[in-house]
Amino acid sequence: SVSIALFTADLRLHDNPVLRAAQRDADEVVPLFVRDEGVRAAGFDAPNRRAFLADCLHDLDAGLRARGGRLVVREGDAVTETCRVAHATGARDVHVAADVSGFAHRRERRLREALEADGRRLHVHDAVTCVLAPGAVTPQGKDHFAVFTPYFRRWEGERPRDVLPAPRAVSVPESAESGALPARSDVADVSPRLAPGGEDEGRERFRRWTSDGVDAYEDRHDDLPGDATSRLSPHLHFGTLSATELVARSRSRGGAGAEAFVRQLAWRDFHRQVLAARPAASYADYRTRHDSWRRDERAATAWREGRTGYPVIDAAMRQLREEGWMHNRARLLTASFLTKTLYVDWRVGARHFLDLLVDGDIANNQLNWQWTAGTGTDTRPNRVLNPLTQAKRFDPDGGYVRRYVPELAATDALRGGRVHTPWKLPAEERRALDYPEPIVDLTDGLNRFRVARGLD
Ligand code: FAD
Repeated sequence: SVSIALFTADLRLHDNPVLRAAQRDADEVVPLFVRDEGVRAAGFDAPNRRAFLADCLHDLDAGLRARGGRLVVREGDAVTETCRVAHATGARDVHVAADVSGFAHRRERRLREALEADGRRLHVHDAVTCVLAPGAVTPQGKDHFAVFTPYFRRWEGERPRDVLPAPRAVSVPESAESGALPARSDVADVSPRLAPGGEDEGRERFRRWTSDGVDAYEDRHDDLPGDATSRLSPHLHFGTLSATELVARSRSRGGAGAEAFVRQLAWRDFHRQVLAARPAASYADYRTRHDSWRRDERAATAWREGRTGYPVIDAAMRQLREEGWMHNRARLLTASFLTKTLYVDWRVGARHFLDLLVDGDIANNQLNWQWTAGTGTDTRPNRVLNPLTQAKRFDPDGGYVRRYVPELAATDALRGGRVHTPWKLPAEERRALDYPEPIVDLTDGLNRFRVARGLD
């Protein structure tokens, strides 16, 4: 007998309940990945993620080959292609991970109907792409938690499922035909310093993180130049690492840094359970503040290009373009700057992030944007982060700015923390810099926001 393990956001062999169940069911298994044209049609097929995905698929194929199998890759509509493979191989059962977006729900429903119409079955597995499935803990009488702290208290008290080992052997039927694996080198417009993908790479990164990174995490996670976070987010997004395994390993290792890291992983589950309960929160305000956002294409363009005249904001936006990734503190600052200081719609910023972030994720991105804009689950929706105060706190010597804004790094008069206020240079030196004047006065921005939100 044959069954299909349909890989989605779980591109790994270790701790993969989908692959485990498919193998348990049948003598042979088709490890299938469909390059879904629906993802492209939804505008979610950004070059950085496509390049990272190519690495992941190569690595998954290599891991399967080392176990006597191979990856079957198809391209087209995920439902049609899965049914075709099922037909060609005689597979009766298809296993897939549960997911939270509206897109994933619709795909799952279509797949179930198509398979059942043909006498086959779809098995959807929870807690593959997260630690606790959405709905596993709920407040009394409600379908999801809208505040993180009470969610986390319950989350911490639950026992996650056991971590599964990677299979020793995988036997794939001859009749499963595969298309070519996509190559990273075929993808255009990739960020020059994009990190490599794949399960091996993710496991190695996590190993280094537990040996040299995590202990300093609690104290240094906000340190912009220190870059002291795990950078595991793309691996969590593509599922080359299992969040369940990271939690188990971090807990058994112990320490304040590991605990703080586990708490961040709970944020991921938190946003997922919000989106699972309110799929419309990917585009509509989770909580309306009756905003009438400004349309300001000039300001939005300056923000996207990292030319706002605020060095810490510009450094962050350039980091995003250069690496396809941005530090969490920088994400908070740039999102607050766009939605509050410039009072531009969070959807404008969220779209740009999704176009570039290698970890770009509907639940994490849209709900963190909403959180920062104050239309989401933040219990202090009207706080505004001042980029200067934040820069002094989290980049006191200006190392972060100098790393990403070369025109400021080269100026001697802007040594140390002075790099955050280039407008204080004498007029002549200032003109010599190819760097813009601030596009907005911070006090004006703050006042405009307060009036718009009816706070004054
Ligand atoms: P670490 O600090 O090492 O944290 C470990 C893991 O915990 C992360 O990899 C991530 O999976 C999870 N995590 C950490 N913080 C959060 C958070 N606030 N919400 C949810 N999960 C979290 N994260 C994404 O994965 N994809 C996105 O598209 C995304 N967009 C964001 C947009 C905005 C405006 C903001 C403010 C945050 C966004 N985040 C997003 C959350 C967070 O910034 C990143 O997960 C984090 O910076 C990734 O770096 P890291 O792996 O080094 O994190």
